[in-house]
Amino acid sequence: MSDFMEIQPSDCHVHVWGLDGVPDLMEIVSASGLRSVTILSAALMGDKSLNQNCVGLLAKALHPGTIYSFGCLWHPRTGTVQDPLSYEEQARGLIEAGCDGMKMLEGKPTERKALEEPLDSPDYDAYYAYLETQDIPVLYHVADPETFWDPDAPKEIREGPWFYGGGGYPSKEQIYREMEHVLEKFPKLRVVFAHFYFLSADPDRAAAFLEKYPNTSLDLTPGGEMYWNFSKDPERWRQFFIKYQDRILFGTDNMAGSGAYEMTKDDAVAKIRGMRTFLETNRTFQWLGGQQHGLGLEPNVLSKIYCGNFGRFAGRAPKAVDVARTIDQCQRAIELARTSPEQDEIIPELEVIEGKLRGLQRAKAT
Ligand SMILES: [Zn+2]
Repeated sequence: MSDFMEIQPSDCHVHVWGLDGVPDLMEIVSASGLRSVTILSAALMGDKSLNQNCVGLLAKALHPGTIYSFGCLWHPRTGTVQDPLSYEEQARGLIEAGCDGMKMLEGKPTERKALEEPLDSPDYDAYYAYLETQDIPVLYHVADPETFWDPDAPKEIREGPWFYGGGGYPSKEQIYREMEHVLEKFPKLRVVFAHFYFLSADPDRAAAFLEKYPNTSLDLTPGGEMYWNFSKDPERWRQFFIKYQDRILFGTDNMAGSGAYEMTKDDAVAKIRGMRTFLETNRTFQWLGGQQHGLGLEPNVLSKIYCGNFGRFAGRAPKAVDVARTIDQCQRAIELARTSPEQDEIIPELEVIEGKLRGLQRAKAT
């Protein structure tokens, strides 16, 4: 990445679906000159995702100093597995095992509908209160691009998995209302909203949101629409990025390993290149299948967006993994997986993870 400024970005938003993705992720890190990556668990996506918290913790233990990991809650309604622990107890276990924060996907319309639980449901109160009092960072996916609700959206959206124009999905505004109610109830909760909180079509509203909720920030993880919206009015957005330079974080949604959504290493590296070109150069260039216009931000602003803001959000270095507690998490996942019809797919990987963790424990002891 030698054509870019000599700042090593921290990528606050990546996914690793299975253990096979960890070496690939590390290759992306070195090819792109990243300072760190944050693996966001997607454990709530059903039984097959029971490995997610343990994958993130093991990856972190294998690459200390480079990998952060955010845990994610299990919900019985997104799979068959019933977790006897409350949300708060689940989070406590993950944080004590070494997670640096919590990832929430509960605000994505598909999950929000499956869970049948508003984001501001009292069921979450003890959990949010725990995060707030312990000052634990949260990366929250709330809503989706507005076109996903639009009955006149292009065919590929209307026929895709994320079309909410029918079928009893909550509206974008309803999900926002629920989230803002949470922020009013727990004003010290530190939240980064994924994909710019899906407000890239409306800079006034994005600014008003940041003004109203001072402990929130936005990540730059590309949703399909964001960079098109930014490129429509680069000067306006340049001013926005300068004004809110302390509230914007670099993230990619890059993915590694076999699982739900696969992606090649080359695509991951190219995405980082596209984002850096957009942020660092003040010119038009081809990216995302069309012409985009960069913002040409100054190095002091870029350094905050690339890494300074993340350091304040999640800590200058990743927390240490407590290997024994991570083994407990892994055994708990295996126990829960035994009640799943998909256990033959889930348990073998969890056992490999547990074996690797025990290896780390032995290595430490000798
Ligand atoms: Zn993501």
